[in-house]
Amino acid sequence: MAGCIFCAIVTGEAPAHVIYADDDAVAFLDRRPSALGHTLVAPRRHVEHLWDGDAEDVVAVARAVHATAALLHDRLQPDGLTMRQNTGAASGQDVFHLHVHLVPRWHGDGHIGWPTRPDDLPDLAEVQARLTR
Ligand SMILES: [Zn+2]
Repeated sequence: MAGCIFCAIVTGEAPAHVIYADDDAVAFLDRRPSALGHTLVAPRRHVEHLWDGDAEDVVAVARAVHATAALLHDRLQPDGLTMRQNTGAASGQDVFHLHVHLVPRWHGDGHIGWPTRPDDLPDLAEVQARLTR
């Protein structure tokens, strides 16, 4: 898609530090890493959001995520890894080409975990009903 930086990266038109690539997806180092080895995994096909496209787009990313996570584990030997996918500006997505963040983690690295709101807990049965009716 014209004007999409990730489309330019996956086709090789824009520079990036690619660490894994296959027929359907490319993994490259984040230009503003939050940790050593912070990597973005994007499908070659332009898909804006997780809920766009079809399941095969997600499968393509998942396969590359699996291979890239193994690579990061093997070469950097982190204590853990955080996988994050932001869909929509409300979630923090700032490049509108589907991608997954892989952030190697080490004990004591100071990264903040998942936010919780103990004073605003939802009724889980109500949420389940809303999602399954
Ligand atoms: Zn794109």
